[in-house]
Amino acid sequence: MTAFGPAMEAFSVLRRGVRRIVAPNPSMMTGPGTNTYLFGETDIAVLDPGPAIAAHVEDIIERAGAPIRWVLVTHTHPDHSPGAKLLAKETGAELLGRPAPQGRQQDRSFAPDRILDDGECLQAEEFVLEAVHTPGHASNHLCYLHRDSNWLFTGDHVIDGSTVVINPPDGNMKQYIDALRRVRALGCEALAPGHGEIIRDPEHAIDWIIEHRLVREQKVAAAVSRHPGLTTHELVPHVYRDVHETLYRLAERSLRAHLIKLEEDGRAHRSESAESGDERWRMIE
Ligand SMILES: [Zn+2]
Repeated sequence: MTAFGPAMEAFSVLRRGVRRIVAPNPSMMTGPGTNTYLFGETDIAVLDPGPAIAAHVEDIIERAGAPIRWVLVTHTHPDHSPGAKLLAKETGAELLGRPAPQGRQQDRSFAPDRILDDGECLQAEEFVLEAVHTPGHASNHLCYLHRDSNWLFTGDHVIDGSTVVINPPDGNMKQYIDALRRVRALGCEALAPGHGEIIRDPEHAIDWIIEHRLVREQKVAAAVSRHPGLTTHELVPHVYRDVHETLYRLAERSLRAHLIKLEEDGRAHRSESAESGDERWRMIE
């Protein structure tokens, strides 16, 4: 995750009525920090207020300079949504998004006043934001299409300069790639990610991600063919020769996402040991 570009400005006006504040949570997983976006000039919508950091919430309110009416989230991972509750408490704003599913690494404090389904819109006087359901990184993930600019705000579906974690069971590789293809077909002008800079050539960026995932999938299929009956854990060094051992735990999750996709595509078979819970894989020839 070291591919993120140079340090980002903490505050930027991206175009008329679209501003960005970078939350003060930089890390290996969040790059320069989570991007919080502000829409509008007289009635403000805030997207992804980030972690519940009081100073960041105060910064959002100050920079907004007008009443914050709505707070939207792309998904309920801890670096995107926990600030929403705090911001709504301070401003009385309406919360929009999808509730957190069960599981670890989910912000259960996020309780939307309005649950958005695919295609539903927030219609403000100054802008329209359309929800695009994009499961894969997270089952409740929404991107938002800013109709006026034809920019898509992509959260963790597409980020700048790095690949995102697909962590089953909430993460799903097959759904992720399907959702990437749907987003590509929207023909957006630019992608505004949850981490990193604006992506000006969406089709190229999405093609690169799909290609990268499919190349890895081929390596997974080849490794399972050569070593039938290995567990997910045992397959890691065969698939991730290019990855340092310290990253094997992360790689194992990603590998499992690929294996489940191969299973869903009818190409791989999984047998589970009742005692150990180990999953062993073989290709269906
Ligand atoms: Zn996430």
